[in-house]
Amino acid sequence: MNCPRDGAALSDRELNGAMVAHCDACGGMFLEPGELNRIAGPTRGDLEFSTVDLDTFQHDDEYGPIVCPKTAGHSMKKVEFNILSNIILDYCEECGGFWIDGRELTRIREEVGEYNEAEKDGVEPWTVRLSQFFWGLPFPH
Ligand SMILES: [Zn+2]
Ligand SMILES: [Zn+2]
Repeated sequence: MNCPRDGAALSDRELNGAMVAHCDACGGMFLEPGELNRIAGPTRGDLEFSTVDLDTFQHDDEYGPIVCPKTAGHSMKKVEFNILSNIILDYCEECGGFWIDGRELTRIREEVGEYNEAEKDGVEPWTVRLSQFFWGLPFPH
């Protein structure tokens, strides 16, 4: 696979037990389904689900639109990480993969750290709770 931003070859890199396709030129990475949950750090909800399924808006970001590096010809959709975070990721509806740009991983981990801090104080972040709720419903996802 090649980087959708600059065309450089992506190389495998291990992050939290997930093998991601990483671009050494721009620091971006492609994540297969399931890998965003792994690299974001532990939470009790499903972050990929709450990022994608309830988000019906088209978001714009500073990086601009790209085509999925895995399923060529499919434009990726801009989605907001866990809906309310202001971190805009690229998501491929064809293969379920995510593209994360250079500085976004740090921001995602900070965000997840805040959810877990809030949870320690007895406040369950509503987005995580929401994903658990929907995850238990009997419709396909
Ligand atoms: Zn790149
Ligand atoms: Zn794809």
